[in-house]
Amino acid sequence: MSMNRNNSSRLFSIAQKVMPGGVNSPVRAFNAVGGDPLFIKSAKGSRITDVDGNEFIDYVGSWGPLIFGHAHPQIVSAITQQAQLGTSYGASTEVEIQLAEKVVQAVPSVEVVRMVNSGTEAVMSALRLARGITGRDKIVKFEGCYHGHGDSLLVKAGSGLASLGIPECPGIVSSLAEKTLNLPYNNVDQVRELFEKEGKEIAALIVEPIGGNMGVVPPKPGFLAALRDVTQNAGALLIFDEVITGFRVSLGGAQKLFGVNPDITCLGKIIGGGLPVGAYGGSREVMDHISPVGSVYQAGTLSGNPLAMAAGNEMLDLLSQEGIYETLEQKSAKLCEGLKKNVDALGIQAQFTRVGSMFSMFFTDQEIVDFETVKSCDTDLFGRYFNGLLEEGVYVAPSQFEAGFMSVVHSDEEISLTLEASRKALTAARGQLVE
Ligand SMILES: *Cc1c(COP(=O)(O)O)cnc(C)c1O
Repeated sequence: MSMNRNNSSRLFSIAQKVMPGGVNSPVRAFNAVGGDPLFIKSAKGSRITDVDGNEFIDYVGSWGPLIFGHAHPQIVSAITQQAQLGTSYGASTEVEIQLAEKVVQAVPSVEVVRMVNSGTEAVMSALRLARGITGRDKIVKFEGCYHGHGDSLLVKAGSGLASLGIPECPGIVSSLAEKTLNLPYNNVDQVRELFEKEGKEIAALIVEPIGGNMGVVPPKPGFLAALRDVTQNAGALLIFDEVITGFRVSLGGAQKLFGVNPDITCLGKIIGGGLPVGAYGGSREVMDHISPVGSVYQAGTLSGNPLAMAAGNEMLDLLSQEGIYETLEQKSAKLCEGLKKNVDALGIQAQFTRVGSMFSMFFTDQEIVDFETVKSCDTDLFGRYFNGLLEEGVYVAPSQFEAGFMSVVHSDEEISLTLEASRKALTAARGQLVE
């Protein structure tokens, strides 16, 4: 029996009349899995409720920010208290200093941080800064990594482009696209080779220190350290895009976890506590190139918005409590071990990747190390599995090429419910296999 999604379908047909594809971000469309996207009415804790009253256990968590689940009372209270004092002044506030201090204290390589409004903006600004400092144009990135929708970075990018099968995005000035060099993730030899040839023209190498936008692809041991080495030798800057990993895999992000410090760190998602935010930071020497101290210009009417700062402050306070990352680890391990048992019992080929509370289940027999191996997945099987999960009341990202996110507020019972739902969805999805 199929769950009633009439209201979502009705809204989707209206939405398509006034918004491109009916959505404000392509990743929300269900193109890769089939069916109409859900329209959400409300959410609380680990659950979201759609406009038809269906409730789902949520592993999207707004694509990463919601480590404490939806509408956490302390975050809601911080936002409403601030709202009563005004929502934006376009002037300096104490609350933005508080958040900056917390970021600086937690993230090893960051001494000075600039707030912006999205991860995209953080990355675009970081690239401009790197180009401004080095006087060089070229940028190196990795296939399947997503760094927001800035012009320089939409070549062979992950996330929505991977889900929709878009290798290169039209509309990007070719002379700019040519400055972006793409390499396979986890392949140190190719990095060294490229830098030997073109190192003196490279402004920066940008990397997701844990791949999160082609599904989760952890760095091989030594990969990040090698990147640090190669960039330093070439006089290029190393940029860690920690928009997903920052404050998720540890309080100090992936750089703390792996003990490798970049020159510039991009942050977003979690530090806004569910409100729109981004940030980029580095050493004082690097960040002093930014206006008004230096001449690399970057500005924002709503940057450091008090509502976002209040939410971010509360989020970081919650994260600083004892045992949070241990809790996330234990819950995520329990879920992924259960998922593995399910696929093993059913004889389905799948690979599991996980760092802390970010995880993926890939339907392939190939070891997952880069975008090529990720692309070997059976996306049809994923589509059936996804839709089966929805029917069973579990909401994951509508693409094989996206991470799952655990929150602190997912209960053990909800994890057990998820595993039972997954068992049923897997059984049904496999049953439809055309042998
Ligand atoms: C989400 C994401 C971005 C873009 O952030 P937006 O706030 O969506 O602009 C950039 N980099 C990474 C690694 C991300 O996951």
